Amino acid sequence: MNPALPLKKTDRLGLSDIRKGGVNVYEIILKKRNGRQLTKSEIEFLVSGYTKGLIPDYQFSAFLMAVFFQGMSFGEITALTEAMMWSGKIFDLSKIKGQKIDKHSTGGVGDKVSLILAPLVAACGINIPMVSGRGLGHTGGTLDKLESIPGFRTDLTENEFKTQLKKISVAMLGQTKELAPADKKIYALRDITATVDSIPLIAASIMSKKLAEGIDGLVLDVKTGSGAFMRELKDAQKLAKVMIEIGKRMGKKVMAIITSMEQPLGNMIGNGLEVIESIECLKGNGPADLMEVTMALSGEMLMMGKRVKSKRQARRLLNDAINSGKALEKFKQIIKLQNGDAKVVDDYRLLPQAKYRIEVKSHKSGYIQKIDTLQIGLLSVTLGCGRQTVDDKIDYGAGFILKKKIGDNVKKGDVLIEIVGQDEKVKAVSKKIIDAYKIGKQKVKPPRLILQRIQ
Ligand code: URA
Repeated sequence: MNPALPLKKTDRLGLSDIRKGGVNVYEIILKKRNGRQLTKSEIEFLVSGYTKGLIPDYQFSAFLMAVFFQGMSFGEITALTEAMMWSGKIFDLSKIKGQKIDKHSTGGVGDKVSLILAPLVAACGINIPMVSGRGLGHTGGTLDKLESIPGFRTDLTENEFKTQLKKISVAMLGQTKELAPADKKIYALRDITATVDSIPLIAASIMSKKLAEGIDGLVLDVKTGSGAFMRELKDAQKLAKVMIEIGKRMGKKVMAIITSMEQPLGNMIGNGLEVIESIECLKGNGPADLMEVTMALSGEMLMMGKRVKSKRQARRLLNDAINSGKALEKFKQIIKLQNGDAKVVDDYRLLPQAKYRIEVKSHKSGYIQKIDTLQIGLLSVTLGCGRQTVDDKIDYGAGFILKKKIGDNVKKGDVLIEIVGQDEKVKAVSKKIIDAYKIGKQKVKPPRLILQRIQ
């Protein structure tokens, strides 16, 4: 055990204090573990010390777990968000004309909305400076999906980011040394320490990087249901309200839509596969559920950016951008400018291919009543679509193709899902995935997708 000097309330903790041993990380972890509120300077000290490599992973993991169990007050969440935001630079986009609006999702399975929405809304005249994350827990991440495109770079520098935004109104990148580096590091640690589904940690993670982007407004997609971090609607509502409040305090327009994650969104899960499904959406061939969520969020962005006055106008503009090919063209421009091979748009064989494929069939006839989406997400990680340790390599070609969804009628022997990837992994997953489906005699309706709008 580490005997600590008691912290003075008025102390502003500096990194030199860690080096001198004058401040004890242990004391702060203990304080949080015991359910007490941390001061702004204690939070700043932890975030800055961890980002600079002065606090080891094992201590920061313990802090995250303490937050997971004890929660944080709104003041603490704001302090955590600010400390993470100020770990890098705040981008100044004031020289870029027009509204800068972004969207962020709290994470889901098969949630590839960002890949469709960013080029689509940019094609309708809004600037989209989009900073995204990698796969987290059982959910996929926009950066991993984009990186399945050969050559695609998500590590843009501030200059590259601004130049691209000026040129084509949209850039899709990850946190860098310059932009919310604390989130990048903490996000990767949360991913492997079972500390993802915590309202303070999700709120601070999302808002720190989004506020550092230099946006005018943000549309949040807060997911709830069996595949979401917030399984209960009331927790999703709470998370949405916390993020909206943080954004407002920083002078930004923020609103949220709560959407259902009772089953995977769209029909494909896995990085390369989700790129294909997103391109199909931009070509006008998207599945109805995925398009419904994409259109709702895109419409909110157009209204927030004052490009349109009503949902109906938004829908018309968005449909035009898809039907005219402008949205797809914008996606090609993003790929080209970020060093990727834009030919993938016309030839999916250029994306990573899986060698092995198994079809999983239904053991009985009836209706699909439930899909355990968390389980599907976890199995996608086992397949190689996500990481189990920080150093895990992603298998960009692996994934699932859903053939049946909630409410569908199935006959014994019908294919429920196709699994693609590496031989051994596909075999292992195929033995377990059937347990994620509940099939019964009673007909059920597919879950409602758009559950609430919070402003
Ligand atoms: N998305 C993020 O960026 N962070 C989270 O913690 C969850 C989803």
